[in-house]
Amino acid sequence: MISALTRFLLIVCIAFIASFFVLANWGSEWAFAVGILVLSIPLIYSYVNLARLGRYIHSDSVENMPLPSGLWEEIFFRLQRLVKNLKQKLRQIEQQHDHFIEAFQASPNGIVMLNENDQIEWCNNIAEDFFGINFKRDVLQRINFLIRRPEFIHYLSKRNFDEPLLVERMGSDSSLSLMLQAFPFGHRRHLLLAQNVTDLQKADAMRRDFVANVSHEMRTPITVLMGFLETVQSLDLEKNQRDQYFDMMMSQAQRMKSLVEDLLTLANLEANTLPVVTNSVNIETIMALLRNDAEALSQGRHAFSFEMNSSKNLLGDEREVLSAFSNLVSNAIRYTPDVGSIVVKWDVNSRGQGEFSVTDTGPGIASEHLLRLTERFYRVDRSRSRDTGGTGLGLAIVKHIASRHQAQLLIESTPGRGSTFMLRFPNERLSA
Ligand code: ADP
Repeated sequence: MISALTRFLLIVCIAFIASFFVLANWGSEWAFAVGILVLSIPLIYSYVNLARLGRYIHSDSVENMPLPSGLWEEIFFRLQRLVKNLKQKLRQIEQQHDHFIEAFQASPNGIVMLNENDQIEWCNNIAEDFFGINFKRDVLQRINFLIRRPEFIHYLSKRNFDEPLLVERMGSDSSLSLMLQAFPFGHRRHLLLAQNVTDLQKADAMRRDFVANVSHEMRTPITVLMGFLETVQSLDLEKNQRDQYFDMMMSQAQRMKSLVEDLLTLANLEANTLPVVTNSVNIETIMALLRNDAEALSQGRHAFSFEMNSSKNLLGDEREVLSAFSNLVSNAIRYTPDVGSIVVKWDVNSRGQGEFSVTDTGPGIASEHLLRLTERFYRVDRSRSRDTGGTGLGLAIVKHIASRHQAQLLIESTPGRGSTFMLRFPNERLSA
């Protein structure tokens, strides 16, 4: 390959030779013109290639430019390689950037990147939802102009981000509890993370309520029991009076025992995350046990009817099934006034689902209570529940057992006329 200098010298020589030849034949003006013409060939060549390069650069397609021959071939070739490499690198960087953005978007937490002036540089969709931000509209807005909670403004201005901050966000449709924490990065920039802790907060509140309820439930019988003990200790009582007091003490102790037993049952059910054992539970046997217990509890005050409309049995845990069924039967007995009637029925409906129901002619329950009946310690009639030895946990236990057996607890009730509590089991839970 001829070097650029050789090429140029060659053209200069050709220009000299042509000029001498023309000078000898046509005179000096023509010789000068021919010399200039030959020397301007590389200039024209360069100009043409520069113009082409300009065109391709303009249309951003340098890498598709056809290579000219000669000196410009090398230049074009190197330029094309450079552009190709740069474009590839750019693509890689863009891909990496997209991956980071996707990863941040996939996070269940809100993420906001703040610059040194606490202005929003970027945020993910979750952060937009949490804070009501619109990234396109609010980019480079100061975060404290958008999150106007005083505790957050104080947290940001204090510049001490060692501890997270709990912020309650009151929305029009729902309220959120957000745990916020800022983490410094880069040059005085911050990553603000927001975690939705609404469920944790609710669970915590429920736990506190539960402890308060249990303490309250225990305090009453303990206080009564202590009162009796003091009386028995300090007064000189007749034997029959003393026996009466002992009976009353026994009933308070019994109440505490029932409460502790129900609490333990509930705790065991909640702790047991294993699927329920699937033994065949003989419904006829269960019905016989229920009838015995019911008659003992009612002591002839109610008229019972136990109906077996299907011979199908249930696949499940016998102890749990008996506990759920007897809770419903004992509720019917405890809440139905004397001379009322109670129907206990086992049936399979037209869709093949097993239905265990208890219908009573008791006081019934107003509709506003129905959804809350299975909450722990929720009672419609507090004194009736206590008087009849209720713990307020029976239906919570029934609901747990139902869900462990994929069954539904359905309650129908008309105040003043009575109630039906039904457990509906899926057909996969039935056996011949
Ligand atoms: P409790 O031990 O108080 O009976 P449950 O969880 O078994 O607790 O029931 C919750 C509440 O539902 C009861 O306090 C009572 O007000 C109401 N309830 C349950 N069963 C019946 C029923 N058959 N008739 C009327 N009210 C009922």
